[in-house]
Amino acid sequence: MNIKELDKGLIYTDSKSCVGCNNCIRECPELTANVTLMEGDGFKTHIDAEACILCGTCIDTCTHEVRCFRDDCNDFFNDLSQGKDIMVLQVEGEHTLYHYLQNAPISQLHAAQTYFPLTPP
Ligand code: SF4
Ligand code: SF4
Repeated sequence: MNIKELDKGLIYTDSKSCVGCNNCIRECPELTANVTLMEGDGFKTHIDAEACILCGTCIDTCTHEVRCFRDDCNDFFNDLSQGKDIMVLQVEGEHTLYHYLQNAPISQLHAAQTYFPLTPP
């Protein structure tokens, strides 16, 4: 783990406001995703992006609202419009994005039946 790389992933800690309560660590399914460091006169808990599976649990768990996510939707749609290769992992129940992609100008769309009970195009 490189300390300089902490909080560089899609989900990160706004460490200025972290109070070191460790609620995030208690609920995190990945043992090594959270890294607590002594900073100034208190503890701050950061995220190691290499270990974090981006489940989002800590965003709900952190009652101090310092777990945040970077919105990369604009990057996604820019890449899509330029015909770049894109991999999308959708983990919500509504499948809105999946249906959008079915009509998008892309060459391949695979539905992982285990996770998305949809009829492939
Ligand atoms: S739950 Fe929030 S405030 Fe508490 S240690 Fe984790 S990131 Fe910091
Ligand atoms: S997003 Fe999930 S895996 Fe990553 S730090 Fe938060 S709870 Fe752990």
